[in-house]
Amino acid sequence: MPIATVNPATGETLRTFEALGADGIEERIAKAESAFRGYRTTDFAARAALLTAAADLLDEERETIARTMTLEMGKTLAAARSEAAKCAKAMRWYAANAERLLADERPAEADVADSGAHQAYVRYRPLGVVLAVMPWNFPLWQVVRFAAPALMAGNVGLLKHASNVPQTALYLGDLFHRAGFPVGCFQTLLVDSKAIEGVLRDPRVAAATLTGSEGAGRAVASIAGDEVKPTVLELGGSDPFVVMPSARDELDHAVHTAVTARVQNNGQSCIAAKRFIVHDDLYDEFAETFARAMRGLVVGDPLADSTDIGPLSTEQGRADLEELVEDALAKGATALCGAGRPASRAAGWFYEPTVLTGVTEEMRIHREEAFGPVATLYRVPDLDAAVALANDTPFGLSSNVWTRDVDEQRRFVRDLQAGGVYFNGMTASHPALPFGGVKRSGYGRELSGHGIRAFCNATTVWYG
Ligand code: NAP
Repeated sequence: MPIATVNPATGETLRTFEALGADGIEERIAKAESAFRGYRTTDFAARAALLTAAADLLDEERETIARTMTLEMGKTLAAARSEAAKCAKAMRWYAANAERLLADERPAEADVADSGAHQAYVRYRPLGVVLAVMPWNFPLWQVVRFAAPALMAGNVGLLKHASNVPQTALYLGDLFHRAGFPVGCFQTLLVDSKAIEGVLRDPRVAAATLTGSEGAGRAVASIAGDEVKPTVLELGGSDPFVVMPSARDELDHAVHTAVTARVQNNGQSCIAAKRFIVHDDLYDEFAETFARAMRGLVVGDPLADSTDIGPLSTEQGRADLEELVEDALAKGATALCGAGRPASRAAGWFYEPTVLTGVTEEMRIHREEAFGPVATLYRVPDLDAAVALANDTPFGLSSNVWTRDVDEQRRFVRDLQAGGVYFNGMTASHPALPFGGVKRSGYGRELSGHGIRAFCNATTVWYG
């Protein structure tokens, strides 16, 4: 993919960028290594001051960077503003909490004595230069979710961002620089994904994190595995949204949340609810109100306040989504709404909000991730069937369940194969809660103490 800003609402190429050559990459890796030597010895207060300065700048520049994101990848301006605000909040959260999260761990005195020591503890030390390979869908948030804890732990970062968000990528490098981080602590590499192997094999690069598709995750993890370097992988998802009979009294709220959970970010979120699994008792009512609400969404210019859903980010992304829907319809699925391009938008990569029923195992959409505003709706007779269907996916990122029945809640917590179980609401990340998946959704966790310790050397310090 060329490195370029192409407005998804019009298809117009706004700016193109030259990829860095071998010399440019070498220069940045050398700077990163040199920065790490000094930065690793700074204390938490100094790092927190820098990260807070970055949060302040981001707040001041919210409107500008929000417009850049909307122009580059098509999310609505309102969504882009909230994303920028969320990033500043996460930076402040890590600035305030990193020291506590990385405090020395002291085992029980009896265990220390049993190890033969008069004193022993665990010290969390940074690993070094971490390569972050990031996707375009939350172009600020995915990066900040890595950068804030990594920088607070004393690591330094090299960012390979998606090729369709180069201006956001450059903004991020510039932001940390202007906030006062020493030169080399956080740098953007404008490179093609083919250059990643060389960077990752470089002995000066200690670890990698990747958020993106399964294919990219596999490519990066296999190189890192070969080099024996740790990785965190945040990959795709096809999260279930289960509705049980005890949700009857709040069905409107459940439907409203279901719509938001599916179409957030124009339907292009890893933790978007994608498969809607509804108990027989509520199915007909849910299906009717859900389809009506999806049909009523406004698809249009992402810069306009009245727009609910903007375009998909790339032409290829829309083509992939169309293929999934056409495959399902050809094999007997029914569209309650959508299943096509909006007639009112000749240019740009728009797609109508779509609800499919009658989805069977033979259809690709049953197992593959639909990365756009397309929901599949399933009817189940009981809790066992709901759990089985929710788990019938290669992915395991998060899950959403509507039930007020405490016994049912216990069952879902015990049995759902996912990195999160959210009751009576929708999955949303928060700096204090770990984020990540199981199965093909990846491994490792971001955010919370788990996220900051992911790129630390848990060092045993033992005194005889
Ligand atoms: P993608 O194609 O995998 O791209 C993600 C990043 O990986 C980009 O920077 C891309 O660079 C790079 N890349 C692609 N192939 C690579 C390779 N072989 N080696 C090294 N780097 C490579 O992902 P996408 O389709 O743009 O993003 C959507 C996917 O990300 C969805 O599956 C979504 O669910 C997932 N996602 C997961 C999370 C999570 O937290 N679990 C969050 C957001 C998105 P180029 O742009 O230059 O190709």
